[in-house]
Parts: sequence; structure tokens; C-alpha cells
Amino acid sequence: MRIFEDILNIIFPKVCCICDQGLTKNEELICFHCRSTLPKAKFEDPKDNEVVHRIYGKLNIEIGLAYLYFYKSGITQKLLHQLKYKNQPEIGLLLGNWIAHDILNYGMDKNLDLIVPVPLHKKKERKRGYNQSRHFAKGISELTNIPTDFDNLQRVHFSASQTHKSKEQRWKSVERAFHVKTAECFKDKHVLLVDDVMTTGATLEACGNEILKNGASALSLATIALAK
Ligand SMILES: [Zn+2]
Repeated sequence: MRIFEDILNIIFPKVCCICDQGLTKNEELICFHCRSTLPKAKFEDPKDNEVVHRIYGKLNIEIGLAYLYFYKSGITQKLLHQLKYKNQPEIGLLLGNWIAHDILNYGMDKNLDLIVPVPLHKKKERKRGYNQSRHFAKGISELTNIPTDFDNLQRVHFSASQTHKSKEQRWKSVERAFHVKTAECFKDKHVLLVDDVMTTGATLEACGNEILKNGASALSLATIALAK
């Protein structure tokens, strides 16, 4: 098996998804150098930080986490572009594993009952082939053993890219975009809602409200990145 893998690696060398340099046997998807230059969001307190402050007054959350900072044209943007548009869902899984270590270090895994990713509209998911946030959720679940729910929060309205919209336009397009299929599924659960990037927080707010409306006992947020 090892020999087979080695031969495959000679024919199709694995390269870093950020810098395109060949990966060594110990590196997975991202080379050590690129990993060391990623702008990690180091939060001292999961209850009092930039994620929590950004959503404050709009959505009542217990804890808020982001793994990286996202700067325009920066390395995180490149990484997320690979994850979302270059058919590399395994990047989401890896980043989920990485943030899971933070969740375990904070000792928060015991308080969380369910991980729910922000859903894509079915049409969009079919086109892309996968939902990147679902893979991030899977990566968190793998190490923390917190169960996931991929079916009950659904996106019912299709909206075009949020990228060039103002704060008000973003809110208008997501305000009624989400729907919970089975009302009982979030009842009395502390739900960890996860997404790729937090910008204004409008999408997380709309999803979070739906989850809380359906009886969740608490809500927390984790994103791959926080836009600066
Ligand atoms: Zn690299």
C-alpha cells in the first residue's frame, strides 16, 4: 500500500493548496511554511472576543470562535477560494480538525450537543458538489465527538453571492432564507452553528434565530475565518 502511494505521489505529486510547492510525507494539504504564516485568530476568551462583539445585540450566543482572520487578497482568502471553488472539500475537514483542538482546550466540547452548518441552497450545492461548511462541521465532530445535523436547517431561498452587497442588502437577502424542517430536532440542545466566513454576521444571525425559535437551549458560533 505504501509503495502504491509512493508511486502515485511520483506520478501525481501532492502540492500545497496555497503555495503549490510539493508536500512532504508529513504534510497534509497545506505545507508547514504556509500553515505557520496563516493569520490565526487567537482568542483568550471564547465568551468575549471579536466574534461575540460583532453579533452582540443581534443574536444571543454563548461562545464565538473563528480560526483565522480573513484579509482581502490575503492567504486566508486564497485558502477559502480553494475550499469553495476548486473542489477541495477536504480543506474544510482539516480546518475543522484544527479548530476542534481549540474547542477541546477550552473544555467546551462537553457543553455542546449538536453541530449544524449553515446550509447552501440545494441548487448551489448541486452546482458546487458539496457544502464547504458541512465538511468543516465534520472535521470538528471527528475530534470532539459532538454529533452533527445536516438535514434540519434548510436554505429555502436562493440568493446570489453576498460579496458585493451592503449590510442592509445582505440582511434583506438572508432574513427569511432559512427554515427548520423538524421543529423538535433542536429542542433543549446547545447548538454550535458553523460557517466559513463571518462578515457582517447576517447569515449567522438569520440561521441562529431560526434555531433558537425552534427551542434550542443555547447557541454558539464557530467560523473558519473572521473578515477584518
Ligand atoms: Zn505552502
